[in-house]
Amino acid sequence: EALDYSCPAGSFKDRVVLVTGAGDGIGRAVSLALADAGATVILMGRTQDKLERVYDDILERGGPQPALVPVNLEVATPANFEELAAMLDREFGRLDGLLHNASILGDITPLDSYGYGTWDSVMQVNLNAPFYLTRAVLPLLRSAKDASVVFTSSSVGRRARAFWGAYAVSKFATEGLMQVMADELENTSAIRANSINPGATRTRMRALAYPGEDANTLRTPEQLVPAYLWLLGPASTGITGQAFNAQIR
Ligand code: NDP
Repeated sequence: EALDYSCPAGSFKDRVVLVTGAGDGIGRAVSLALADAGATVILMGRTQDKLERVYDDILERGGPQPALVPVNLEVATPANFEELAAMLDREFGRLDGLLHNASILGDITPLDSYGYGTWDSVMQVNLNAPFYLTRAVLPLLRSAKDASVVFTSSSVGRRARAFWGAYAVSKFATEGLMQVMADELENTSAIRANSINPGATRTRMRALAYPGEDANTLRTPEQLVPAYLWLLGPASTGITGQAFNAQIR
């Protein structure tokens, strides 16, 4: 069963929400739904034409004009994120939501043969870049009246499994980053931080990890959207430091 929530129309009106990995998979579905609910979505991702398609889809559906931010999280520096934050400050003056969704899988292989370069890339995209981005936009989150930061975890980020290497470790660390942030900000600000594990979902990443699987047996990104909207929006105000599952099996 997917977590059930029916997002009232206009719940995200006047909210500015940044989504990483917005061009495909879960990030794409959540971005479209956020815009449907009234959010101004900042679409961040690697492949510009995918982002442009989401941008066009949002406008076609009558949503607020999104912002398009092509960034390769593997090579982006802290200075790049500071520049981005300055741009967002000029454009919007605040950030009401932040969904860290972009990730890469890396190798599914024993540690004996795990590629050193792959290890670094996975840690960079899945952990370091989300830290840089979070740190850079903290002042913007502070300017919102109720900001929700959502980190994306995985079942192997809560109980690791053989062969999942850097991906599993990066997701454990993501939970740690979320907990540190939530603990620091609790009681001193209106910013909250939580994590979500989408569970098995019909995307390109899942197909890479489980090439033999029949994708039709999996939930679609669209079916997970309610859980994400609940956690990113006003419905979950006051909830912080928690690890959620989008699907209850
Ligand atoms: P996808 O591979 O479909 O989408 C990932 C998105 O992240 C893509 O839009 C991709 O951009 C973007 N991305 C990857 N690398 C970079 C980079 N270097 N810079 C910028 N953007 C990048 O994956 P999912 O939708 O399945 O995954 C979304 C999240 O859910 C991830 O955090 C994943 O770990 C997590 N998850 C997914 C599960 C599943 O079953 N699908 C299960 C558990 C967790 P581009 O399209 O341009 O490559």
